[in-house]
Amino acid sequence: MRSTLGFVVLGISLLYFAAMTLFAQRVLQLEPQALRFVAVLAWPALVGAGVLLLRTRTAQLSDSGFLMSEEGQPRLWAAVPITPMVSPLLTREWVEAVVIACQTYNRLVGLKLFEPVQRTLAGIAIDKPGFGLVKFRPSVGTEEGASAQFFPEEPPTSSALVTLPVFGDHTRDLKIMIVMHELGHVLGLAHDSDVASVMHPTLDGRPVALSLRDMHRIAEAYAPKPFAA
Ligand SMILES: [Zn+2]
Repeated sequence: MRSTLGFVVLGISLLYFAAMTLFAQRVLQLEPQALRFVAVLAWPALVGAGVLLLRTRTAQLSDSGFLMSEEGQPRLWAAVPITPMVSPLLTREWVEAVVIACQTYNRLVGLKLFEPVQRTLAGIAIDKPGFGLVKFRPSVGTEEGASAQFFPEEPPTSSALVTLPVFGDHTRDLKIMIVMHELGHVLGLAHDSDVASVMHPTLDGRPVALSLRDMHRIAEAYAPKPFAA
């Protein structure tokens, strides 16, 4: 199946290149060989970049306030609570920030979203489905910022990996705020233009607490549902 598709793509690509070379030669009347080559390559590069940009945009944002997968599903977990695990490479202050952020979510939303924080070994496999855990690891380079990754690719999420920017000079409050924001992503929240939201995209002036809308969104997504009649 895959190899047939490969041959079809290869065939179309060859036809395309032949057609575009002729087009550059006859219609655009480009003389030097190099110019023709650029004309042939420029089109797919432009179209490809456009498609990629559109895909990342639709994959990241949605009106519902949740991160959406490639297939248009909100990035929610199958079940809570989620077990947070901290790498032994994280400093005590970052671990404390993770503990506080997890407790804050549980308290403010009024649900047991996160279990107590556990220490783990650095190399634990987290991409196996069905674990229900989020691992926190330090950034490896000075340029690496905070981020959250989800496993598997398509929801429901069963594990996540959060990277924390340990090389920066962050105060205790800033550390907590960064973890709060990444935990929002972990639970599936997208960025929010509301300055009261912990999901506001810029660090400047972003609050440590959750906005009412943040809390509602999470509660609606993770509160136990009564059995349908
Ligand atoms: Zn973010």
